[in-house]
Amino acid sequence: MAEPYTPKPKHHGAPPPLAQYLTDYGLRHVEDSYFHENLFHESLSIDEDFPDILVRSCSSRSVGAGIVNLINTCYMAAILQCLTHTGPLFRALRYSDHNTPCHESGFCVICAFRDHNDEAIELSRCPIYPSTFLENVKYFSAAFIPYILGDAHEFMICALNKLQDAFPEGQNNPIDQIFGGRTITKLRCCSCGFSSDTIVPILDLRLAVENLSTVQRALESYFMIENMDAKFKCSSCDQQVYMAKQLLIDKAPGIAVLQLKRFKCDGEKIESHVSFAMDLDLEPYTSPKCREHDAILMYDLYAVVVHRGSTAKSGHYFSYVRSDENTWHLMDDSEVCRVSIDEVLSQQAYLLFYAKHGTPWFSSVETEERDLKPEGFW
Ligand SMILES: [Zn+2]
Ligand SMILES: [Zn+2]
Repeated sequence: MAEPYTPKPKHHGAPPPLAQYLTDYGLRHVEDSYFHENLFHESLSIDEDFPDILVRSCSSRSVGAGIVNLINTCYMAAILQCLTHTGPLFRALRYSDHNTPCHESGFCVICAFRDHNDEAIELSRCPIYPSTFLENVKYFSAAFIPYILGDAHEFMICALNKLQDAFPEGQNNPIDQIFGGRTITKLRCCSCGFSSDTIVPILDLRLAVENLSTVQRALESYFMIENMDAKFKCSSCDQQVYMAKQLLIDKAPGIAVLQLKRFKCDGEKIESHVSFAMDLDLEPYTSPKCREHDAILMYDLYAVVVHRGSTAKSGHYFSYVRSDENTWHLMDDSEVCRVSIDEVLSQQAYLLFYAKHGTPWFSSVETEERDLKPEGFW
């Protein structure tokens, strides 16, 4: 292990050259945004610094700072909040072997997340300007354009992929260790019983939710044995036979992220409430090998991303995070407020983050960090 990373006191990022971006991409792109409807008309002059209205907050020490909306950056903010409040990732970013000072010549995704986390737990809890992420959003994918709303799930996957690639490959890759799981697809011959297996690494589970009212049902349906309609040639008995397909979890991830597929191919959104629980039991969906290897298959909900609006790339994203067993917070751009569990469970969730039972809560990770630092640092 490298020396623990020591953050340097820093100034909050200055707002980026907003007027220039708006000229480049055209104001029409923000006209129908939540930001525009709710804040833009109030007092924001695009040539000025951001107004005070953007930095209201009622945050406490047990949770990270809010994130200023730099116009349509809420999809990034919602994901940044969930990732910052993922205790094992917070630790991994700080204690990884990544060089300090950094040797990267351009944008470094590890440093960007690490610096963001530092700002999130600064004593002042001042809302953070996500300027670095905004200016480098194309690094994550060409699909993202500054000041235009992106899909939060897509951003999360791109961010995890980039972090995964930035850390050394192998068993100690923290993204693999924390989020990485594996599924196994068993294709079984209905005549001779021969089964061929396909193993696929995963970072999340993408569940169809149309006409389903609970996440439990969505999981059952996802992992259900499917009898295939057409006949296939079996490589064992050499006959044209019917096959049964079953998907199972072969390696359970430390953090299980569930995407509820609310956005259909035709662009329509499934608006129904899909109820979810504080606990998740993955055991019924695992292979025998997985159960043998993994004693803990129970998970606790610790973050939720919600989308309001009619398509993935319009509307507004925000999140809820759990800082300890009994404490939940709404993280809606710069606004940070303590909320009840009932409020969280009543949401139209888009992404659900579950941590394996026993994973440290954010508040304990944050306290541990604070205790390690000199007085007045956090
Ligand atoms: Zn770096
Ligand atoms: Zn066969």
